Amino acid sequence: MVKKGDMLYAWTSDADLAAKAECGGAVTGLLKFALEKKMVDAVFAVKRGQDIYDAVPTLITDPKELNQTAGSLHCGTLLLSKLIKKYLGGASNMKIAMPVKGCDMMGILELAKRDKINLDNILMIGVNCGGTVSPITAREMIADKFGVDPDTVTKEEIDKGQFIIEYAGGHKGISIDELEDEGYGRRSNCRRCKVKVPRQADLACGNWGVIGEKAGKATFVEVCSDKGAKLLDEATKAGVIKTEAANPKGIEIRKKVEGAMFKLGDKWRRRDFADLSPVLWDTINKETSRCIKCYSCIENCPVCFPNEDGLAGKSLMVKDGEVPPKPMFHMRRFAHISDSCINCGQCEELCPMDIPLALFSHAIRAEADNTFEPKLGESRYTN
Ligand code: FAD
Ligand code: SF4
Ligand code: SF4
Ligand code: SF4
Repeated sequence: MVKKGDMLYAWTSDADLAAKAECGGAVTGLLKFALEKKMVDAVFAVKRGQDIYDAVPTLITDPKELNQTAGSLHCGTLLLSKLIKKYLGGASNMKIAMPVKGCDMMGILELAKRDKINLDNILMIGVNCGGTVSPITAREMIADKFGVDPDTVTKEEIDKGQFIIEYAGGHKGISIDELEDEGYGRRSNCRRCKVKVPRQADLACGNWGVIGEKAGKATFVEVCSDKGAKLLDEATKAGVIKTEAANPKGIEIRKKVEGAMFKLGDKWRRRDFADLSPVLWDTINKETSRCIKCYSCIENCPVCFPNEDGLAGKSLMVKDGEVPPKPMFHMRRFAHISDSCINCGQCEELCPMDIPLALFSHAIRAEADNTFEPKLGESRYTN
């Protein structure tokens, strides 16, 4: 009987799926089982589009189509949470199972707090996350640092601290530290992120801690809720998922890697925030002077929902049609999200003027948490 708190190695018994999946296919196998057994009406996952840089959110109702979502897309910088509100009615009338990175999970929790989605109808299969690389950076990095035409890359993975590509001429790996020292690598919000194992999801799955003959062929699963325990228990009893107890040495290794990632996140926070500290307001003013008031940062933020007055331009301090807008256009958003920013990076990633918005909102949130609430690294989500 699987129960909350269990730590297991898990893999699918479907050989086709195992061949396509990242680490043994437990995640896709569980999503498929939940759909087949009608525990959920649909699976909302991510599949590869035109190439490795193109991560496409996809809603699946036919279990036979699920195998196409297997595999990890490290250039998949998308956030699934707000899409549930925008396109799926906030899961108010349908049960949805989905894979979630830490930021997807935090976004879902923030949306649920605002009554924008029905958490009871969502089954979250968490995936550990070391970070994602912006598709634009990935293409530049592969051309400049790897000396490879980005269009010839057929597969990418992040393993043992290296970004590895497979391409027409073979395969190559370069250490993430080296790439990041030269301005490539993971998105800057990901470098600061400390939600590495998404324990507020129903299950937290990843490759860290899988050692011995199962390395690369199974996923380490931490059971985080009764809902997650029930799913894994039933899938195991039905024979679609195989499990064995996690190797105690593997559990230790996973803990150590998570701790090392926290330290790395702190290092980046020190570097990014300390540089910003003396010049924060000047930098915000300078950077936002490029703003074209397209509203993308508001539209894509999982914690921003303008009310009717806000959209109708009834503000006393921000005039309609004024471009670039006065600083209050940005200040009111920073104030609004000051204790909720989850550092998902969507505002920054999708700003057409490349304004480092997540750096500002994360700095404000982290500084406030650090000063007035739990210590940095001990807040509710460690974000
Ligand atoms: P599969 O059966 O292959 O299923 C993978 C699932 O992930 C699918 O449902 C797919 O839709 C979903 N997915 C793929 N890309 C994305 C994306 N960009 N955003 C949201 N969902 C996505 N594990 C670690 O232990 N350490 C790490 O540092 C780590 N980094 C990761 C980074 C990313 C971006 C992702 C997506 C996963 C990461 N993982 C990490 C988890 C690991 O790569 C495997 O996903 C996990 O072990 C499950 O393997 P599996 O074979 O069961 O998954
Ligand atoms: Fe992963 Fe965190 Fe970046 Fe989200 S913000 S993609 S959870 S590292
Ligand atoms: Fe301005 Fe960028 Fe926000 Fe658009 S996304 S409103 S350009 S800050
Ligand atoms: Fe994500 Fe930016 Fe909103 Fe923070 S402000 S939650 S980083 S979109």
